[in-house]
Parts: sequence; C-alpha cells; structure tokens
Amino acid sequence: MKINGDATIIGGGPIGSSTAASLAQKGYDVTVVEQKKEIGVPLKCAGLVSKRVFDLVNIDAETVTQNKLYGAYIHSPKGKTVLIKNDKPRAFAIDRVLFDKSLAEVAKKNGAVYLMNTTLDEIEKGNGFLKTRVKHGNENTFISSKILIGADGARSKVRKMFNLPEPQEMLLGIGAEVENIDVEPQYVHVFLGKKIAPGFFAWIIPTEKNKARIGLGSTQPLPKPVKTLFNDLFNYPTTKNYLQHAVITNITAGNIPLGIINETVKDNVMIVGDAAAQVKPISGGGLYTGLLSSKHCSEVAAEALEENKPTFDTLKKYHELWTKDIKREISFGMKIRKRFIHMNDNEIEHYFTYLEDETIISIISQYGDIDYPSRLLFPIIKNSPKLLHLLPKMMHLLL
Ligand SMILES: Cc1cc2nc3c(=O)[nH]c(=O)nc-3n(C[C@H](O)[C@H](O)[C@H](O)COP(=O)(O)OP(=O)(O)OC[C@H]3O[C@@H](n4cnc5c(N)ncnc54)[C@H](O)[C@@H]3O)c2cc1C
Repeated sequence: MKINGDATIIGGGPIGSSTAASLAQKGYDVTVVEQKKEIGVPLKCAGLVSKRVFDLVNIDAETVTQNKLYGAYIHSPKGKTVLIKNDKPRAFAIDRVLFDKSLAEVAKKNGAVYLMNTTLDEIEKGNGFLKTRVKHGNENTFISSKILIGADGARSKVRKMFNLPEPQEMLLGIGAEVENIDVEPQYVHVFLGKKIAPGFFAWIIPTEKNKARIGLGSTQPLPKPVKTLFNDLFNYPTTKNYLQHAVITNITAGNIPLGIINETVKDNVMIVGDAAAQVKPISGGGLYTGLLSSKHCSEVAAEALEENKPTFDTLKKYHELWTKDIKREISFGMKIRKRFIHMNDNEIEHYFTYLEDETIISIISQYGDIDYPSRLLFPIIKNSPKLLHLLPKMMHLLL
C-alpha cells in the first residue's frame, strides 16, 4: 500500500494524537502509525495531572477525571509524615486509557488516519520528503510525507534513526492499580527513601474510594530485580499500613526519560513528548510538558508545510519555542535530582525536618505547583529567615 500525505506521526500516544489533531484541524493530511492494537492499552502511567493539562486538550475534563486531589502526605524514610493540603483541588487523577482514546478520537474526527498494530520499520530520504516504511504483520505500507514527527515515546526509534541526542537519564517507573486500600480519597501519598524508591519516590494516588494507582520510580540499572523492588513496596514500615491488604488488579512498567535534549529537529523531522524527553524531572510527569510542546510542534509543522519548507532552518523554531517554555524548569529539576540521587536516607531525613515547619507547610500549600516546582523557592526563603543562608545555593539552581 502507498500513502501520500503532509505529515506522518509515529506514535498514537497522547502527544502524537494531540499533534495529529491540531495538524489535521488545520487541513493537513496526517497519518498516525501506532504499534499497539488498542490506543492507550496497556496503561503505563499514574495519571496525575494539573488543571493546565485540560486547558491544552479538546476533551471534556469531567469525563476523564476519576478523582480530585487536594494535597499530599509526604513520608520520610524513617516514618515522619507531613500533610500539605489546600481547599482547592491541586491535581486530578485521570483515566489515562480514556484520555488517550479521547485524544485519538478528536484527531480522527479532524481527519487524521490511524494505522493501528503497525510499526515503524525504515525511513528513506527523498528530495524534500521522507518515505517511511511501516509494517502491519508481513504487510508493508509506504508513506511519503514532507514531515515526520516522532511521538514514539521514551525509547523513540525516530530519535535513534536520525541520530538525535539521547535523554540524559532513563528512570524506570513501576506501577499498579489496586483495590481494597485504606487511604483518604482526597490526598496523594509520597514515600521517600533510598530502599523504597532508589533515586526517586513511591506513590499512592487514590482514584476512588478504596481504589488507587500505586507505584515507584527507580534509577537504572536497578539495584535489585524489578519484581523484588515492586513486591518490597508493600512491606516497608512506612507503606505497610496503607498497602498490606491491597489487591492488585493490574501491573505495569515504563521508562521515564529525563534531561534536556539539545536537538529535537532535523530536515523534515521533529520529535515531541517523551521522545524528546519533555518530562518534569522532579515528578516524572510528561503529560503537561509534552502537550505544551505538542502545540508548538503542530504550529511550526503547519508553518513549514504552508511555506513548503520543512527544512531544519524552519523547524528549529519549534525547538526554540518549547525550550523557551520549559527548559528552565527542566534544568532546575535536573539540578535538584543530581543532589537528591546522591543523598542517603539520613540526609533525606535531615532535609525532611525543614518540611516540619508550619510556615513552610503553609507556603507549600499556597504556592506548590506540580508543573513549576521552582516557583516555591523564593516564597519559602523569603518567609523563613532560618533558610536565608540557602539563598546563594538556590540562586545557583535557578541559573
Ligand atoms: C509508571 C509511570 C507513571 C507515570 N505517571 C505520570 C503521571 O502521573 N503524570 C504524568 O503527567 N505523566 C506520567 N508519566 C509519564 C507519561 O506517561 C508520559 O510522559 C506520556 O505517556 C508521554 O506521552 P507520549 O505520547 O510522548 O508517549 P507514549 O505515551 O509513550 O506514547 C508513544 C506511543 O508510540 C507508540 N510507538 C512507540 N514506538 C513505535 C513504533 N516504532 N512504531 C509505532 N508506534 C510506536 C507506542 O506504542 C505508544 O503508544 C508516567 C510514566 C510512567 C512510566
């Protein structure tokens, strides 16, 4: 089979579909190539997002929202706990499978064509276009288009094929859906500790009464087998109370790419979403940052198609735009991470004591923002004289 079009998007995840929806809405012929049989399945996400995510997509927030979350219990490695909460919802647990499906429906309604159960195989360069060979079983399809967009996730093949830089770090996220769990439905739980979640944290995100998504992140190579890392999550003194009676209904794992990629376009090629490591390093969340970047990706791709100039010189504007929006926050997150991954549990415990301060808790409750954690720095330092000595270090993190 042969297809001629304006843009080929590899990956029908949320970022590929959002990019496809915008380009198709502008009247361009878009083909989305997705290796899965069913959009969004299997689930590889904890589905925690801010309200901003809903502002970036054309779907009804209420239909995909499972739960509204008003704050978080943070647990130290040795069992201290603080609650940071607000009167207004600070985050939303979404049905990620439905979210992905809804975004794909919008793209299809706008005219994008989806080739499901189909995998990227080879790409050949033509004169001003790319010829992409994709495989559905033994069947080959050749798609000729002026622009190829790699929205093919953390281990992007497009990124590799075009020699674009790899992410600085690849975390492993291991998650599960559980029932029969005893937590207040309005608060997330975050567990710190090198044994529980090496170089990251573990979470419980209630989705409805007695149900939650739980999980942990770890640096790679893993310090112990993935199964052991996950099974142990149920047995730590800090997690046991909440998880000992949990019944697991679904387990999943996925890579989380971190760190700024300094090159995300080539002639006729763009990468976006996890493929471009557009992920927040402190939380591992990639939906907001990926969707925000997807807007720039589709706008610049449309401009290049309009001018019939899909060259590096035209497409590099996309790289400039997304880095302008989120590079600072990602760099800040990576600097925090660099320190965090080298901390042992005693050091984490030491820094945790700063959290046990009424003023600091109230500032975090007021200014805490899961998309822009750096915005907390100055209010905290300004309002806590005992932290004033940290100001030079903090300045360094922001520059
Ligand atoms: C355990 C875990 C928990 C997470 N929790 C959160 C969270 O709470 N909040 C949040 O914001 N983010 C979270 N994330 C991150 C979030 O899931 C990603 O940032 C998001 O899925 C990125 O979307 P994407 O479309 O770029 O990539 P993906 O969702 O990975 O989609 C890429 C698509 O490309 C397809 N594909 C890949 N290769 C090919 C190929 N060669 N040919 C054809 N198709 C291909 C894949 O099948 C997939 O459908 C989590 C991640 C993990 C692993």
